[in-house]
Amino acid sequence: MQIIRSVKEMQQLMLQLGNENSIGFVATMGYFHEGHLSLMKESVNENDKTITSIFVNPLQFGANEDLDRYPRDLENDSRAAEEAGVDILFVPEAIDMYPSKMTLEIITNRRTNVMCGKSRPGHFEGVATVLIKLFNIVRPDKTYFGIKDAQQASIVQALINDLNFPIELVTLPIVREPDGLAKSSRNVNLTVQERQEAIWLHKALDQGRQFVIDGNFIPAMIVKEVNKMIDDKISGTVDYVELLSYPELEPVTDTGNHFILAAAVQFSQARLIDNLIFDSEGNLTR
Ligand code: AMP
Repeated sequence: MQIIRSVKEMQQLMLQLGNENSIGFVATMGYFHEGHLSLMKESVNENDKTITSIFVNPLQFGANEDLDRYPRDLENDSRAAEEAGVDILFVPEAIDMYPSKMTLEIITNRRTNVMCGKSRPGHFEGVATVLIKLFNIVRPDKTYFGIKDAQQASIVQALINDLNFPIELVTLPIVREPDGLAKSSRNVNLTVQERQEAIWLHKALDQGRQFVIDGNFIPAMIVKEVNKMIDDKISGTVDYVELLSYPELEPVTDTGNHFILAAAVQFSQARLIDNLIFDSEGNLTR
C-alpha cells in the first residue's frame, strides 16, 4: 500500500491509474473501526484499485466542536487499511487542501435544514466542499459511504446528481458493537458511564420503529416517545430526534416510501448520532 501526502502527487498518480483501472474511493477522518473497514472491503471487492483518504477536515467543524479532540492514529490506520486491501492511502495536510481562503463557497438549499445540518450550521457545506475537492483529485468510479451518517449520504447523492460527477454512490449499513451501539471513532471519548448509557440511542430508536410495526405511524408521538426514552436514560443531552422521509429529508407525508428515525446526543466529550431507515410498515431497508 502506498501512502501519499501531497495533493499534486495524488492528482498526477490518479490521472494515470484511472485510465486503466476502475477506482473505488472511501473518504474518512481516520481512527478506523469495522465501519470504515466494511466500506474499504466492499470497494476492494468491486474495483481494480481502492483509495482511502484520511483527512480531518477543519471546514466541517464548528468553532466549539471537537476538531482538536478528534482521535488520530495513522500507524494503526495504515496497518488496518493495508490488511483490508487498500492500494493507496491519501493523507493530505490541511494547508495543502486549503492553501488559501477559498474564493468560491458551496451553499446547500435542501436536506441540510434538519437533523445535524440544523445543529451544526456550515457542517454540510464543509463536507460538500471537501468531497468535491477529493472527487476531483481521486476521480473515482465508485464511492462508498456508511448509512451511519445517513444525512451525509443523502447530500453526497445530491452533490453527485447536481454537479454531474460520473461517480456511483454505494451506501453500506451501520456496523454496531455487540450491544447495539453504532461504531464510531468518537466512542473513545465517552466516559465508562456514558458508554453504558449510549446503548439507549439505538434501543430507543428501535422502540420508535416498533410503533410503526404496530401500525401507529404517528410521527409527532414517536419522536416525543423516543426523545423521552433517551432523555430518561442518559446523563448527556438529546440534541434532536427526528422522523423524516429518506433520502429527501422532508417532513413525513403519505407519499414517502422510506423513512429515517434519527437521533443525536451530546455527551461530555462526544456527540453521537444514530438512525434507522425503514418502510411504512417498519421493515428496515438499509
Ligand atoms: P468518518 O471517518 O467518521 O468521517 O467516516 C467515514 C465513513 O465511514 C463515512 O462514510 C461513515 O458513514 C462511515 N462509517 C462511520 N461509522 C460507521 C459505522 N458504524 N458503520 C458503517 N459505516 C460507518
